[in-house]
Amino acid sequence: MIKFTLVCDQDHEFESWFPDGAAYEEQARRGFVTCPQCNSHRIAKAPMAPAIVAREKPAALVDDKARAMREAMRALRREIEARTDDVGEAFPQVARAIHAGDEPDRAIRGQANLAEVKALVEEGVRIAPIPTLPDEAN
Ligand SMILES: [Zn+2]
Repeated sequence: MIKFTLVCDQDHEFESWFPDGAAYEEQARRGFVTCPQCNSHRIAKAPMAPAIVAREKPAALVDDKARAMREAMRALRREIEARTDDVGEAFPQVARAIHAGDEPDRAIRGQANLAEVKALVEEGVRIAPIPTLPDEAN
């Protein structure tokens, strides 16, 4: 079945279902398609813009998904920031000290460069990257 938006010679718009496009052409040609408002059988397909609808919809879906993902990442960041002490650039030293038992066991966050992160991981210090939002990259 296919739905056509039709318009009569009095500019009344209405929608009607047909088995297929050929069935519509046949029924319209034989005068079987009539306007529900004025009974005119001078009917034509109304100009439509389905391509625009089809283009806009997937874009909106992608936006929704991206927004949901950003919000989830933002929530995760808030969670991490609420449960950790910010030790800033002292992170590698403090992480090592906690790992060695020289500092009270606690969750911390801070900055570390790639080499420091690699060294910490090799030493067996449990660290994890905090997600960075694409629009907050610094
Ligand atoms: Zn009409």
